[in-house]
Amino acid sequence: MVSILDKRNRPLRDLRISVTDRCNFRCTYCMPAEIFGPDYPFLNKEELLSFEEIERLAKLFAKDLGVVKLRITGGEPLMRKDLPILIEKLAKIPGIEDIAMTTNGTLLPIYADKLKKAGLQRVTISLDSLDPERFKRMNGRQISIQKVFDGIEAAKKAGLAIKVNMVVQKGVNEQDILPMASYFKEAGLILRFIEFMDVGNTNKWNLEHVVTKKEIIELIHSEYPIKPEAPHYAGEVANRFFYEDGSGEIGIISSVSDAFCGSCNRARLSARGELFTCLFASSGFDLKQMIRATEDDQEITKLLKEVWSNRHDQYSAEREQQKANKSNHKKVEMSYIGG
Ligand code: SAM
Ligand code: SF4
Ligand code: SF4
Repeated sequence: MVSILDKRNRPLRDLRISVTDRCNFRCTYCMPAEIFGPDYPFLNKEELLSFEEIERLAKLFAKDLGVVKLRITGGEPLMRKDLPILIEKLAKIPGIEDIAMTTNGTLLPIYADKLKKAGLQRVTISLDSLDPERFKRMNGRQISIQKVFDGIEAAKKAGLAIKVNMVVQKGVNEQDILPMASYFKEAGLILRFIEFMDVGNTNKWNLEHVVTKKEIIELIHSEYPIKPEAPHYAGEVANRFFYEDGSGEIGIISSVSDAFCGSCNRARLSARGELFTCLFASSGFDLKQMIRATEDDQEITKLLKEVWSNRHDQYSAEREQQKANKSNHKKVEMSYIGG
């Protein structure tokens, strides 16, 4: 397999592709409604990469950079029209071993079957609370939790592998940690807790709002004993734990309290066609302009290799220092490059 190493000896394996900056939710920590309102300038169709352009780039990433995993994200990826057509194209790319999608789940009843047939293997469904009122408040659009349950059901029926992601915020939904653990333990689905991160500039992040990995582990262990489990592969983002009674698995993604930049093998392609080498970057490399200007794939590959081999990002590992040095460091929004 091709391995282009960055300045910290990390290969590129995982490409996250944002297919839209739009969403049918307004999660308070991601796209607060007061900022992403009716007049918000979302990208228009010409500004988005077309499916053919995404396919062309993904092929080069797989062939020349060593990418083996693709994750489709957004915004809400299922808001992008005809998404199964893109999945079908991506699934045929030699070298791509795994295609997953992160979604809020609400549109899965319409698309789950088509996505599975097109070659999607897995979905990660985001759900931050089991409390119907809190869920409505957190999604910023008063959307019923039943819509997410219907999405989970549809994904199950379609035969997609499912994980559930919960972003935990102190003072907002920490009381849901145990009920969520209990519910998904019973349901036989892997639940992953995500520390609230300081992505973007609009979500009023504060370290005091983070429930740390240590706190989550202690809380769950006190009720449902768990033990650490080895990662599936080097660079896996979540720390895995098994319930001691054998009833399943949870994961914890500790980007804030225990950074994992040392093994970060991920790049992100924004809906507008920029390449970001870190979730917390303030700018990306404009690939759209380049692919619209040249038919020469080698020229593009050359740039991709250059960008990756010059990469030295490790924002999370240097978070405190970064904050002290650059209090005005402007970061790209999560809804723009996806999680
Ligand atoms: N709309 C889809 C969804 O919600 O699953 C995909 C895009 S969303 C940006 C991807 C993931 O990022 C979601 O699981 C979401 O909860 C998570 N996320 C968004 N903002 C976050 C933040 N500030 N800290 C941690 N996770 C965040
Ligand atoms: Fe939309 Fe996902 Fe962001 Fe929520 S987390 S606003 S569902 S993009
Ligand atoms: Fe990777 Fe940047 Fe996150 Fe570190 S902060 S794990 S380099 S995306």
